[in-house]
Amino acid sequence: MVGLLYQFPTWIQRLYRGVTWRRVTHDKCVYLTFDDGPIPEVTPAVLDVLAKYKVKATFFVVGDNILKYPHIYARVLEEGHRVGNHTFHHAKGSKYRLGDYLKDVEACQRIMDEHAASVPQRAGQGKGLLFRPPYGRMSRRQKKAILDRGYEIILWDVLTHDYNAKYSSEKMLAIVKRYTRSGSIINFHDSVKSAQRTIDVLPQVIEWLQQEGYKIELL
Ligand SMILES: [Zn+2]
Repeated sequence: MVGLLYQFPTWIQRLYRGVTWRRVTHDKCVYLTFDDGPIPEVTPAVLDVLAKYKVKATFFVVGDNILKYPHIYARVLEEGHRVGNHTFHHAKGSKYRLGDYLKDVEACQRIMDEHAASVPQRAGQGKGLLFRPPYGRMSRRQKKAILDRGYEIILWDVLTHDYNAKYSSEKMLAIVKRYTRSGSIINFHDSVKSAQRTIDVLPQVIEWLQQEGYKIELL
């Protein structure tokens, strides 16, 4: 269901009370987020684009990918981006019992923390724990348990659909133009599914945001 939407409707937002969809801000700023990496096929190319435009973003990372590609994860941290937990196995909430779900979240946090210790954090990178549930979904109990563990749960209010082969760059850019407002959290993926679509559309999105006078900030 979520995949069909460009924005979550109000009734879902009410169901997900306590979750951040958009940051309330007085500045004209937005937040770019990337889910599912780090992976060699996409993440380095995304980092290259961000570096070219001198933009920082937030990466919701999968622990298993950190284990496989630690050097790419190190690069994300070294280049001053922020990271959030996206579980160790890209866990779908509905397939996990509460205890097992939390174990998966903890396993991801453990490997993130091990790396954070070896790469100095940059100023402005932010210290609080961030979590984004895979597929944007979890049960109320899972949500409560994650909040109780001190995480800020971040969803999004603009979904680019970059993982969907039916979406052209033009269509994705049109979605961004239509739905972005001050404080918007924009969702991309650095995943095999999104691959070249993300890399192609990202410079266009950044250029449009900058033309419109949006500052792009870290969560
Ligand atoms: Zn994901």
